[in-house]
Amino acid sequence: MKDDLMKLMQLQVLDSKIRLYDREEATYPAEITEIEAEINRLVEAFQAEVSRVETLEKERRQRERDLEAAGEQIKKIQGRLHEVKTNKEYQAFLSEIDHLKEKMDQYEVEIIEHLDAADRLKEVLKDKEKTYFEEKEKLEARRSELEEKLKHLPDELRVLKERRDHLAKQIPAPLLKRYTTLLEKRGGVAVVYAVREICQGCHMNIPPQLFNQVQKAEEIITCPNCNRILVPEDASKEA
Ligand SMILES: [Zn+2]
Repeated sequence: MKDDLMKLMQLQVLDSKIRLYDREEATYPAEITEIEAEINRLVEAFQAEVSRVETLEKERRQRERDLEAAGEQIKKIQGRLHEVKTNKEYQAFLSEIDHLKEKMDQYEVEIIEHLDAADRLKEVLKDKEKTYFEEKEKLEARRSELEEKLKHLPDELRVLKERRDHLAKQIPAPLLKRYTTLLEKRGGVAVVYAVREICQGCHMNIPPQLFNQVQKAEEIITCPNCNRILVPEDASKEA
């Protein structure tokens, strides 16, 4: 019986691993998709800040050109002042120059504002840049790790299932049937160790008398609470 119990525990270990690998194979593709979406969000958010700086600089350069054009315009008007014949015309020229000068003041203010805003943003970006690249690298590493695992899972599962089937054949049919039923009913865990009078399946106390019987390993003992098959902790070590 001790030998059967040991094999049952080995079978449980294999089944738990197969269960885990099956779940990984089913969930990794969605996890990879989620990581990719997260990378895209990260890149887009960072790019948006970079282009805010670029926009500010573009607008500033436009204002600098406007400023220069207004200056040129004033010079042109001043050059034509001697052609003026009437006072009315003269006043019109002067008012146009005033208007252009006002605009130039406004452009200068805007240029300084854009410079300041771009500097502030660049400062913020410099701080964020390190975190951004680190975060991106972390996500990309996780994605590669999952892709690599996913690539090998089918082979690993095939080997595990072969070993499992080979082992299952060595276990008496009624015991195997009992195990399989329990496995389905108890969320994939049918056999557990009994450690210091505690069932490792449900973590409830095992009465001392029963615990002694588990230690002897002469018959199949189940947990009074969760019904799982109890195996003495040293069963695997002695065998
Ligand atoms: Zn239990």
